[in-house]
Amino acid sequence: MTRYAAPRGTYDLLPEQAAAHQRLEAVCRSVFARFGYGEIRVPVFEYTRLFNRGVGETTDIVEKQMFTFGTGGDEEKDTLSLRPELTAGVMRALIEHNVLAQKPFVKVWYYGPVFRKERPQKGRFRQFHQFGVEAVGSNDPLVDVETILVLLSILREAGVQEFQLKLNSVGCPECRPRYRETLRAAAQAQLPQRCEDCRRRFERNVLRLLDCKTDRELNRQLPGPMEHVCPECRRQFELVQKHTGGVLEPTLVRGLDYYTRTVYEVTSSTLGAQDALAGGGRYDHLVEELGGPKVGGVGFAAGVERVVMSMKEVNAGAPLDFFGIYIDETLKSDLFDIVNRLRGAGLSGDMELETRSVKAQMRNANRSGARFAVILGGEERQRGVVKLKDMARGHEREVTIDEAIRIVGAR
Ligand code: AMP
Repeated sequence: MTRYAAPRGTYDLLPEQAAAHQRLEAVCRSVFARFGYGEIRVPVFEYTRLFNRGVGETTDIVEKQMFTFGTGGDEEKDTLSLRPELTAGVMRALIEHNVLAQKPFVKVWYYGPVFRKERPQKGRFRQFHQFGVEAVGSNDPLVDVETILVLLSILREAGVQEFQLKLNSVGCPECRPRYRETLRAAAQAQLPQRCEDCRRRFERNVLRLLDCKTDRELNRQLPGPMEHVCPECRRQFELVQKHTGGVLEPTLVRGLDYYTRTVYEVTSSTLGAQDALAGGGRYDHLVEELGGPKVGGVGFAAGVERVVMSMKEVNAGAPLDFFGIYIDETLKSDLFDIVNRLRGAGLSGDMELETRSVKAQMRNANRSGARFAVILGGEERQRGVVKLKDMARGHEREVTIDEAIRIVGAR
């Protein structure tokens, strides 16, 4: 018989492992709501050209990591790609539905799967999940601060054990051209020692040299953008740093021209080589680049799998409130009705649906961690009662179904 395995770079979440993911998702929803962000859901695939524009032709993602396929239409030259991130799709949706014309300042959050054709390794998948926010319509650096506080609140409340916020500024159209020239001149001399990717990036987009993971040592010898930003960029950087306590990371950049000023990243030493939990920054020219109004925005994207990996271990799933037990097979269907009545009253519970001995049922009740056993014998059925056993204390007493609901429900 052929056995099938999940595709490389993907994984399954079985119920025990799902508990931590559910906890993170609940924390995200709660924090997003408290900061006044509304949910947005966009398709998992878009026209490839949206990502070419929105993510950038010179990025690794667009150059080599997208899953791209035909539209299915005969004459369509267009192709579709699975989303490698969500910002482009979210901006497309806000522009397409004229949201920014009706509401000058919009705050949205998302949570969902993304796809990148990367070489899988620990903490790096081909289907993974991101949550994030986009705050669009304001150039005020306090908005940058707010997105960072949202991210840090989530990490703290989810129980992430150790993390560090790194900040930088990539300048603005006023000061960046000068910086780019300075960087070019300094990097030129290093080119013979640099990797092939760097030599290509030097021609196409010199800022991206600073992203290179192979040539980190050489990057430390290059001037960082903060040494060259204009006074307004510096003022904004200092404000963001004051409110967030982030550490300056001189080589942190986003190589594309629509990114301006604030860039940030959160890493965790608990993670190993793939140590980035989240990345974000300001994009004052992206909305315009995608055909929308001239408004600035800021946002971050965090990797769900990595956040879960760095969360403190917690008990898997909440235990059941009760486990139903029938004394003989003829009582199974009556017990089934009682179990469902208790579930209908908001209690969580289960029972054996296969016919099993009382001993085997008890063993499973113990294994489930249920706080109470609800036991039905022939005599109890006749009198419309059950035996309620407190599993921790071993007490047992006879109660009506309504009493059982009250006692089990009172924690
Ligand atoms: P990026 O859009 O590349 O800045 O990614 C944002 C976050 O998504 C990163 O900080 C990671 O936590 C996570 N991430 C990116 N790529 C992967 C991947 N291939 N597998 C798992 N998580 C990833």
